[in-house]
Amino acid sequence: MKLTSSSDANGTRAKLLLVDDDESVVSAIRRLLASDFDVLIARSSPEAMSLLDQNPETAIVLTDQSLPGEQGLDLLAKVQMKNPLAVRALITGHVALNDMVEAINTTRVHRLILKPWENDYFRIQMFEALAIHSTLKEKNELEQLSVTDPVTSLKNHRYFQDSLRIETERALRHTRPLSMAMIDIDRFKLINDRYGHPTGDLVLKAVALRILDQVRTLDVVARYGGEEFAVIMPDADFDGAMKVAERIRSSLESNEFVFPRVGSIRATVSIGVATLPDHATTAQDLISKADESLYRAKGQGRNQTVGAARA
Ligand code: GH3
Ligand code: MG
Ligand code: MG
Repeated sequence: MKLTSSSDANGTRAKLLLVDDDESVVSAIRRLLASDFDVLIARSSPEAMSLLDQNPETAIVLTDQSLPGEQGLDLLAKVQMKNPLAVRALITGHVALNDMVEAINTTRVHRLILKPWENDYFRIQMFEALAIHSTLKEKNELEQLSVTDPVTSLKNHRYFQDSLRIETERALRHTRPLSMAMIDIDRFKLINDRYGHPTGDLVLKAVALRILDQVRTLDVVARYGGEEFAVIMPDADFDGAMKVAERIRSSLESNEFVFPRVGSIRATVSIGVATLPDHATTAQDLISKADESLYRAKGQGRNQTVGAARA
């Protein structure tokens, strides 16, 4: 039977990871799918996870239920955590119906293949799996777009508000500190006036990258508004957050940006820092305290970091 191609627009075939330690099954499935998919093969669960590490774009993980040392379903649970966009398919001979219904209902398994299989139907199921993969990818791209600021590629204001609310609740529940910094570019209007709005946008992007360079991966960096950025620092106490903020400020002060055809531009920032529970007990209050501190930094001459006063 001829089925439509599984190649993408660039002619790259979709990757399918087959996990089975039974050589005869492996070679039968490889023969069946090799003309449609780039078939990767793992003989055990650890081998599968390491292949997935090297091939994060893998579209389908197809595993036998009985693997050496682990059940296929348990491997698929790990795949779901680590590569949520990979479609999960399980091959099994003996069906424990309740387990399978549960696995399908919790979407741990998208496709179930019963042994012995019928070749054409098997292939069709893999093409269905590929269609599910495309849908998951599109959905993920839309979700990313809806929380991303287009100019800087940072998280947008909405994501910032949601994230600060969640982190505030977590910090209060675990009695852990939570800090935030509000960062505003100094005299940004002059940069726009002198170099034009498009170059102003390049500066915004460059400042965003500079901020990202100075924070931990678990910190959230967002574009709060026009030329204003906010950093959420879970678990950071006031002293720690002040150090991070100072690093951001001084790296901008001491390293100018160089843009092709435009030349070098130095942008400095003023920063206000506040910490929960030291200065606030709610998300909105934390924002206000960081904002007030930023305002003081501006009033005291700009290009400086100011911490909130103790409540
Ligand atoms: P201050 O030191 O007091 O912060 O002075 P400032 O000039 O940075 O502050 P002000 O609030 O007066 O001006 C902010 C400027 O940021 C004005 C606005 O046109 C510009 N701006 C806001 N969003 C964007 C954007 O997306 N791109 C560009 N290029 N400029 C923007
Ligand atoms: Mg400004
Ligand atoms: Mg501003």
